[in-house]
Amino acid sequence: MTRTIYVNGRYLPYAAAVVHVEDRGFQFGDAVYEVWEVKAGALVDPSRHMARLARSLDELEIDQPMSAAAWQNVMRETVRRNRVGDGILYLQVSRGAGPRNFLFSGVKTAPTVVCLARAVDPSKQAAAAETGISVITHPEIRWGRCDIKTVMLLPASLAKQKAKQAGAQEAWFIDSDGYVLEGGSSNAWIISSADEVVTRPADHAILRGVTRMTLIDLLAEEGLKLVERPFTRAEALAAREAFITSATNLVMPVTRIDGEPIGDGRPGAMARRLRDQFHSVAEVVGLRT
Ligand code: PMP
Repeated sequence: MTRTIYVNGRYLPYAAAVVHVEDRGFQFGDAVYEVWEVKAGALVDPSRHMARLARSLDELEIDQPMSAAAWQNVMRETVRRNRVGDGILYLQVSRGAGPRNFLFSGVKTAPTVVCLARAVDPSKQAAAAETGISVITHPEIRWGRCDIKTVMLLPASLAKQKAKQAGAQEAWFIDSDGYVLEGGSSNAWIISSADEVVTRPADHAILRGVTRMTLIDLLAEEGLKLVERPFTRAEALAAREAFITSATNLVMPVTRIDGEPIGDGRPGAMARRLRDQFHSVAEVVGLRT
């Protein structure tokens, strides 16, 4: 089956899905995006992702390209036309195309909107969660507003490439004071020896993960103690458990950091439980009409 991609009001075959060379997303990374988990044809955490998209657009002063109902229609159609049961939905909005200019005020461009969906075999993720993943640590090389979900992903791409070369699946950025910020495309968590679930507060230095927010709801339901504070690499190495969260990984146990085993080097019991229970608190909304 050929894939279909939504581009600016049209559903196009994969090969024909193109945007202009002077698109500001291409020339300046002047664009924002969201990624959802699609589970059995339903969207996971749609409201929180849409709220973050609205916030990201607002921070960049890009006009909302369409109404909530129109977004829903585009997302539903993209999933339907691509017959995605389990997978991901990706949405990107750039400021649009126009003669190259660093300044964007006074130049009216129509936002470029792209939406695509892809099937992902859930058994592959489940298998990874059985063994856990490895992460490496990496100096922070990103900008100062990581809370905005922009497409300026070159630093993340470089760090994740390094992780791959080291046989790991994620890189944890370390700030200049030695604290763990977050992963290249995930939030970072540890479980301390006092059984506290620790993650960095969502300030401007990290992205406020939707999975992170939903997991915080789950922690409350499970009666687990959440502590939002920065933690160091050394603390992570000594932690009982470690894990990452993202819409594409859910709760993914981390068993090695920079090659050192965490706990007994196997996925921790708490991370496994949180992974198993995740969808019991997430908002899951069917896409089919
Ligand atoms: N931090 C960064 C830098 C990310 O790119 C992502 C995933 N897009 C996350 C955290 C996790 O966010 P979410 O749970 O909304 O997928």
